[in-house]
Amino acid sequence: ATPPVALPREAETHCPYCALQCGMVLRAEGDRVEVLPRQFPTNRGGLCQKGWTAAELLDHPERLTTPLLRDASGELRPATWDAALDRVAAGIRAVQSGHGRDAVAVFGGGGLTNEKAYALGKFARVALRTRHIDYNGRWCMSSAAAAGIRAFGVDRGLPFPLADLARADTLLLVGANPAETMPPLLRHLTDQRQRGGRLIVVDPRVTATARQADLHLQPLPGTDLAVANALLHIALTEGLVDKAYVDARTTGFEQVRRTVAGYWPAEVERLSGVPVADLEATARALAGGSAIILTARGAEQHAKGVDTVSAFVNLALALGLPGRPGSGYGCLTGQGNGQGGREHGQKSDQLPGYRKIDDPAARAHVAGVWGVDPDDLPGPGVPAYRLLDSLGTPGGPRAMLVFGSNPVVSAPRAARVTERLRGLDLLVVADFLLSETAALADVVLPVAQWAEEEGTMTNLEGRVLRRQALRRPPPGVRTDLDILAGLAARLDDGEPGTGPAGTPTTTTGTGAAAAQPAGRAARQFPTDPRVVFAELRRASAGGPADYAGITWERIERDEGVFWPCPDPDGPDAPRLFADRFPTPDGRARFHPVTHRPAAEEVCAEYPLHFTTGRVLAQYQSGTQTRRVAALRRAAPGGFVELHPDLADRLGVDEGDELVVTSRRGELRAPARLSPTIRPDTVFAPFHWGGAARANSVTNDATDPVSGMPEFKICAVRVEKA
Ligand code: SF4
Repeated sequence: ATPPVALPREAETHCPYCALQCGMVLRAEGDRVEVLPRQFPTNRGGLCQKGWTAAELLDHPERLTTPLLRDASGELRPATWDAALDRVAAGIRAVQSGHGRDAVAVFGGGGLTNEKAYALGKFARVALRTRHIDYNGRWCMSSAAAAGIRAFGVDRGLPFPLADLARADTLLLVGANPAETMPPLLRHLTDQRQRGGRLIVVDPRVTATARQADLHLQPLPGTDLAVANALLHIALTEGLVDKAYVDARTTGFEQVRRTVAGYWPAEVERLSGVPVADLEATARALAGGSAIILTARGAEQHAKGVDTVSAFVNLALALGLPGRPGSGYGCLTGQGNGQGGREHGQKSDQLPGYRKIDDPAARAHVAGVWGVDPDDLPGPGVPAYRLLDSLGTPGGPRAMLVFGSNPVVSAPRAARVTERLRGLDLLVVADFLLSETAALADVVLPVAQWAEEEGTMTNLEGRVLRRQALRRPPPGVRTDLDILAGLAARLDDGEPGTGPAGTPTTTTGTGAAAAQPAGRAARQFPTDPRVVFAELRRASAGGPADYAGITWERIERDEGVFWPCPDPDGPDAPRLFADRFPTPDGRARFHPVTHRPAAEEVCAEYPLHFTTGRVLAQYQSGTQTRRVAALRRAAPGGFVELHPDLADRLGVDEGDELVVTSRRGELRAPARLSPTIRPDTVFAPFHWGGAARANSVTNDATDPVSGMPEFKICAVRVEKA
């Protein structure tokens, strides 16, 4: 083990929450940790209230500081680390010996550092030898990732730095609400507006971002694809397509041209509610100079999410935007390490470096780095929801290890997922708070927080960043890397307690009780994040997401390093696609797509559309932000937003308790009346569990390509409680 390094009194790091990864300074003030914003290219000195208050959780009274084991009476009780890890290892062995290796599953998270995401993927495939690993990034931007790969040959959320937004004459945001999800990003939008740029927003709700737009298209949920095809139809009929670009840099346009020919604007107006004049104004604005099209969850979280994103990618390609200065297509990733989390092997179909797990060359390369036989690496598993829905069913996994995720709140059709989790022989959750999922676990393992460990994150621009530690984890707490090493040692040697308790194993310290793993497992599962990153660089070398040339020193020196970066002495890649696309022929690929209805349409019994999203003061499943006093005051609980006309029809007043019912379940929350939503649609934020859990209602239909669930539309009825 590398000896622990001295910790600074002040550390330059990044926010633990979203993919903007705002730069911040952590300062030790006595026992307290103070958060200060710092100038960084993404946030330029700004932080939202979530970032400002992030340190409150470090010493939160509800923080877990000892492992918990469920006893015979069904209670979770404090336990030693040896007892907890022994129980997990014994449970894994029992399940695998009775039901095969695939009977154990791993579920990761888009907030884990690159090192943890990499180690988790390796742990599943090498220590457990299960094909069942996936993560909550499937909820985040898997549809844009799939659409990006099929068009451009690579998935990097933004293929240009955020600062380029200010250079666009027109910015089209589709299903994105950065004013609430990542407010410091608005500094770039303000620059763009001050330069005379136009902002056009596509969103069924009049969001805080839509209010700032020059033009707001407010389509019926689930009709974005038709809107995009209509925009391309108009571009074609008005001669706005960049023919030279299409001819020189793309393939497959003819089929797309034939497909969009049928998307007459007047018909799309009838379908989506977006006036023809607004469609025409948007198409002309996008073609009139530099332009950037950005999509986010609103476009993606549909059973046709990949095709919806492809429709906007087709539009961008036809207008000649990708690779041109101040222009392009990009996706706003949500989770803190949503980008890096899907590059290093947490996805069921991927190996590190964004390699495909069924590619023999990729398997041989990664197996060589891992020191295993390629034939011993499992094949592809299944996407997150299919995995969760198969738990405990005949032939499905009977044990699951969850790291950094809370599917009881965040998964669609959450009641069924909860039932599946309850039916497992063994559920293990590593977290630093008792999330709703951890509360169901047989074993809970308390882990370090962001200010207590080193590592790297990859933000929404594909920029790899350093996370720096300011303090050591509290006694009794370990890092995720320590946990994986401890389990691997037990599974490898078949002996519990393979090392002397109290031996520190990472540069940042891991708490007094960390155990030193022995033998082969210690070599295969190092606990020092620097060592893990060095191995990740080798494993990613030559892959689409090539980190081989990225070092921690370079990250610090250069304000982050953009992948691909194959050579430590060569350049990184802030802007992609200037000359060619990383496809076999160097050209981008059009993909014809057609509108189809949502998986569930409104009917007499369920006459309203239901959609979900976020609020400014909360984040994801709320495990963290619901426990921060200032954020709880700002956003104390769930609600159901509905139009006053609809409220009139239902006899509902502001604050009335409502029941929203779908075919899968119900949520109960107070009414919030707002003229900013369509009268045929109701909205609920997804940050809360319990009765207000929005995902009790959502549909578990998934995109056939990406596995992304249809969080953004289903059919409901609304009644007063
Ligand atoms: Fe943190 Fe995102 Fe807020 Fe920035 S915008 S402070 S990264 S939550």
